[in-house]
Amino acid sequence: MLITLRQAATKINSAEKILVTAHIQPDGDAIGSTLAMMMILRSLGKTVSVYIDDTVRRNLHALPNFDEIRRPAEGETFDADLLLVLDTSIDRIGNVRRMTDAPILNVDHHVTNRGEGIELYDEPKAAATCEIVYKLARELDADITPDIATCLYTGLATDTGFFQFSNTRAETLAIASELITLGVSPNFISEQMESKTLAEVIGLRDALNTLKMHCGAKVAGMTIDHATAKKFESTEGIIDEIRIIDTVDVAFLITEKSPNVCRVSMRSKSTDVSKVAAQLGGGGHVRAAGCTLKMSLPDAEKILVDAICAAVGCKQ
Ligand code: 5GP
Ligand code: MN
Repeated sequence: MLITLRQAATKINSAEKILVTAHIQPDGDAIGSTLAMMMILRSLGKTVSVYIDDTVRRNLHALPNFDEIRRPAEGETFDADLLLVLDTSIDRIGNVRRMTDAPILNVDHHVTNRGEGIELYDEPKAAATCEIVYKLARELDADITPDIATCLYTGLATDTGFFQFSNTRAETLAIASELITLGVSPNFISEQMESKTLAEVIGLRDALNTLKMHCGAKVAGMTIDHATAKKFESTEGIIDEIRIIDTVDVAFLITEKSPNVCRVSMRSKSTDVSKVAAQLGGGGHVRAAGCTLKMSLPDAEKILVDAICAAVGCKQ
């Protein structure tokens, strides 16, 4: 059920013990929004824990209070009166879903989130969940400390490709500007986010070697097999290296995480790739979406190329 921002704030206000989570394979917006929310809620006197059921890439470890994020142990439960799910629909939170029977409040900006059976505040026009968390902080009359501002700015910056993607709106920049006034150092965050290990740069070279063009160069794809995937802590950003090709509308990257488990990332300049992802069991945004295909890398590549080519209107 869709609710308003005010209703979401009321729901948060009336809870005392809150479990905050975000999606597996967490990105800057997932981690930034959960840490910011944790600090905001604690400043309002709530008891708050943050659980995310995945490892978090090294670039995000420098965020304030990062050490507070825990991963649920086998069978672990949490006595909460609200489960607050950020930056995803509830099917991508892993075992956190099993930690509590508390009512769920879902705050998200993904157009593919349907929020079936739960209370959802979804704002697909928001560039990042951190934009919504900023507005919630204002609605709740919470003080935005420099640490909270740092986490929120990280989500805004990473989900917009540092304010370059089409989801960047005037409000995004107005909030970013306000966050800098509140104490954020933009260069600190950029330097943390762009840092790569030598193995990752070598992995990037290996990935670029797999580049193939399809649909008369409107589609570009790369694959990372399991052996190469082991070189990476995160493959985030790699797809941008081919998205920029002048003829390309849709870029994709398939990463073989383990045998027969392939993670797909898609980026587009005009085609709605959220529909392609949803068709293959995933989701996301119009210009950035993903899914997981449980099959071999060559099979995944064939299925994906067919689906993307159909979406861009090219007959192979
Ligand atoms: P990325 O390519 O960066 O992993 O994901 C791009 C966007 O698509 C992100 O907003 C992410 O949350 C969403 N996304 C990626 N994979 C999935 C998936 O398997 N299911 C859903 N619902 N969304 C996904
Ligand atoms: Mn996001």
